[in-house]
Amino acid sequence: MIELRTPDEIDRMRPAGAFVASVLEATRAAAAPGVDLLDLDALAHDMIRERGAESSYLDYHPSFGASPFGKVICTSVNDAALHGLPHRYRLREGDLLSLDFACAVDGWVADSAVSFVVGAEPTPDDRRLIETCERALEAGIAAAQPGGKLGDVSAAIGDVARGAGFSVNLQFGGHGVGTTMHGDPHVPNDGRAGRGWPLRPGLVIAIEPWLMLGTDEIVTDADGWTLRSADGSRAAHAEHTVAVTADGPLVLTARG
Ligand code: MG
Repeated sequence: MIELRTPDEIDRMRPAGAFVASVLEATRAAAAPGVDLLDLDALAHDMIRERGAESSYLDYHPSFGASPFGKVICTSVNDAALHGLPHRYRLREGDLLSLDFACAVDGWVADSAVSFVVGAEPTPDDRRLIETCERALEAGIAAAQPGGKLGDVSAAIGDVARGAGFSVNLQFGGHGVGTTMHGDPHVPNDGRAGRGWPLRPGLVIAIEPWLMLGTDEIVTDADGWTLRSADGSRAAHAEHTVAVTADGPLVLTARG
């Protein structure tokens, strides 16, 4: 069921969005060569406690997960695309790191992700991968206009991705966000403009393109969570929580 939020409810989602943005900024700033993924998780966990927020990941146990996630942030390194389970691993110069973070503040959830290269200039391939993800996210956000259709968002993402030579995996995509992390509607990362659910003011969705340099196929890591490219090629992910308003799209997780 798709739930529409009142303007007042969307206002009450703003603190969650701002907090999620601040955690991603802090963890990104901390992600230097030699820093352990578990340290980044601990930093995010400390910030959650200090803010009195509630992790959306810690006890998360969907049908596709082997056990509860048990950490508060996803850290996907190099060929890991999504759901990277933090583990003992010291970041190295040139690692491509995707951070995905969601939590609730005052009962409202926000969800956002960012990808970057640790401690070095990105290679041309990494730059193309990351920038295409970001451009696809921006195009998806720009298409989240009242009066439009959900397919407009999907098509905008897919057009950017395919236009840059990437194929799109449709197994995981964006989703409704509200009092829980994952709600209706599903927001595929490709589709047909003019189709699908009407974009009405009050719809709040996470828009999250993710791309891999080689294949569009993924495999699940032995940890039961981390999804890696099937060919070992590197992956990137970009995500914002976006409210459709009468005035257009409002990015709740905008970073400074
Ligand atoms: Mg997310």
